[in-house]
Amino acid sequence: MEGESVRTFAARAAGAGGVPLLKLSFTGWVTDERYFRASGLVKAPVRPGDNGAMDAPNPLEQALHAARALVLADLAARDVAEADVVSLVEDAVTHRRWWVEQWPEGAAYVAGLVAQDVQDALLERYGRWPLCPVCDQGDPHALEVEPELGPDPRWVCAKAGVVIAPVGGLR
Ligand SMILES: [Zn+2]
Repeated sequence: MEGESVRTFAARAAGAGGVPLLKLSFTGWVTDERYFRASGLVKAPVRPGDNGAMDAPNPLEQALHAARALVLADLAARDVAEADVVSLVEDAVTHRRWWVEQWPEGAAYVAGLVAQDVQDALLERYGRWPLCPVCDQGDPHALEVEPELGPDPRWVCAKAGVVIAPVGGLR
């Protein structure tokens, strides 16, 4: 079922003319911007009314809100929830709001994606995050989110092949 969703997503993305996919090989927001520009997506019209009435929370906003809370909890657990880092999370949430509006079925994937976005942004500005707590030999390495695109994302150590915690559950 998960695989089927991914395929559906890929098909939709292709049909939509290149909605950026999955893990996104972005190394940061600059690259991100470039990608959108290159693909012509920046021409996508901004719908008036997006800033309009604050209705009851919709599922997309709930998913975004949950994603923000989970990633902030993980940042706090590792003592990196500083003001400028929090703004990285806000940037990621804003970006993924756009993404999930294009593909509402992806709402369950937002937490994992925001975690990866923040991880990528931190890598450029601060370094690896979150560090693996189980590998004590060799260079410290970062945990990875699995699935990269799917529900119930978890932090895993790819080296040891173990699940460390759900996203939002780091200690
Ligand atoms: Zn490890």
